[in-house]
Amino acid sequence: MIIRYALCSRSVSILRRSTKVNLPLVTRAQQHSKRTAIVTADGQFSYQDLLGLSGRIATRLLDGADDLREARVAFLVPPGFEYVATQWGIWRAGGIAVPLCVSHPRPELEYVATNSDASIVVAHPSFEALLRPIAEDHRLRFILTCDPPLSDVVQLPQVEISRRALILYTSGTTGKPKGVVTAHANIQAQVTSLVEAWEWTAGDRILHVLPLHHIHGIVNVLTCALWAGAECHMMDKFDADLVWDRICAGNLTLFMAVPTIYAKLIASWEKAASARQMAISKGCAGMRLMVSGSAALPVQVLQRWQTISGHLLLERYGMTEIGMALSNPLYGQRRAGYVGVPLPQVDVRLVDESGAPVAAETPGEIQVKGPGVFWEYWRKPDATAKAFQDGWFCTGDLAVVEQDCYRILGRISVDIIKTGGYKVSALEIEEVLRTHPDIQECAVVGVADLEWGERVCGALVLKSGCNLALEPLRNWAKARLAAYKVPTRILTVEELPRNAMGKVTKPAVVQLFGSKST
Ligand code: AMP
Repeated sequence: MIIRYALCSRSVSILRRSTKVNLPLVTRAQQHSKRTAIVTADGQFSYQDLLGLSGRIATRLLDGADDLREARVAFLVPPGFEYVATQWGIWRAGGIAVPLCVSHPRPELEYVATNSDASIVVAHPSFEALLRPIAEDHRLRFILTCDPPLSDVVQLPQVEISRRALILYTSGTTGKPKGVVTAHANIQAQVTSLVEAWEWTAGDRILHVLPLHHIHGIVNVLTCALWAGAECHMMDKFDADLVWDRICAGNLTLFMAVPTIYAKLIASWEKAASARQMAISKGCAGMRLMVSGSAALPVQVLQRWQTISGHLLLERYGMTEIGMALSNPLYGQRRAGYVGVPLPQVDVRLVDESGAPVAAETPGEIQVKGPGVFWEYWRKPDATAKAFQDGWFCTGDLAVVEQDCYRILGRISVDIIKTGGYKVSALEIEEVLRTHPDIQECAVVGVADLEWGERVCGALVLKSGCNLALEPLRNWAKARLAAYKVPTRILTVEELPRNAMGKVTKPAVVQLFGSKST
């Protein structure tokens, strides 16, 4: 069944009957109704526009039912007003939003749609060819974000904030990505913590250049802006020159990105003519805060950025499962190489291998507790239980506190790679590479890189008589894995380094690539 709804209509919708909503995010939007919420290349959209369109989408999703009752709705919509209205429409209909990634190939999309057990798939027409076959193969209701418009809005359900809201897929140390489920209350705690710490107000205008299937783009940028009644200026995708154009145009107050984006912006600035460099610096000077996170910020990048923009980047630490946990201060000293102190509503402790809190200045695993911590891994009760110790979420990251500030030391597992801000599982990539007809064995590692944080690198043992070059392998892998998971360097080896037990020694594999593991 194909159902179409109009997301494209710009007309300000008047809700025919007063809809009884109790999601605070929505109630707050009603108070900001005339203010601008979203700005895109297509124009400006007010909070009233957002309420109108999301109400119509909710009505379409409900299709006569009174409440979606936490049905999963997978959606693939490019960054922009339609994306936001679809996400809100799912929430207002009582569903769980499962955002899909615009750059994922079919196997990744199909995995998320089926693993989350979605019953509805919403697609922008540009993704119809990719998604409709998935919906048909799995008998899912398929909705396109185009004509004809819905004119009426039904009574929407009351959605308690204790209900599940969002599933984001994240890589772990075992197997395929897991669905991290957060309730509205978790998201609200994550948002209010950041709104307080970074003093978001309705006067803020943030430039959004981050992916919209990841916590950084969804919570830290989009939802914080909408909670505050601020403006979120969305770009279709990250493009360094266009970001600088937008910053030069002035009037932005906030920017948040991953270290790789800052490195790319620096490279673009360095190539620019001096008049443009001065205009960029002027644009940055008018902003009040620039934040980096999702991966370690190299001190060289922080220093170079300060020269260019005049801003000492505020580095924070967080994770899909917990929201943001640690942050350098808005006011006061921001220490290069450190991620500050716990954010409001977040408790953090460091523990040793036995789970006991460590002594002062001693490294330990970061554990986190608080209302922002996720609800569960979707349909994985064992993995959920294993992720907690006495109510504390075990992050798998190591840190030390020095002069009252946290410094991240790295991850406990070498099988988690952070590349360009994306968290990827070496094991998941190895599993796919092993299905290549020329590959007998392989080991995937992250190799330190100033621009990407880590690069995905693969050591390959080929089947006898086979040859495999990087580009053909990348093309083959891109049809099966998200592009950021595909190795950018490969080495063909006779055999993989192993320890006495026969287990592949990943640090030795990293050394094959001429660098140390991070
Ligand atoms: P994700 O769930 O994709 O946001 O990835 C979370 C992981 O990113 C954390 O567990 C850390 O390993 C890493 N991470 C996030 N922020 C930082 C940071 N400021 N410094 C170092 N690693 C970070």
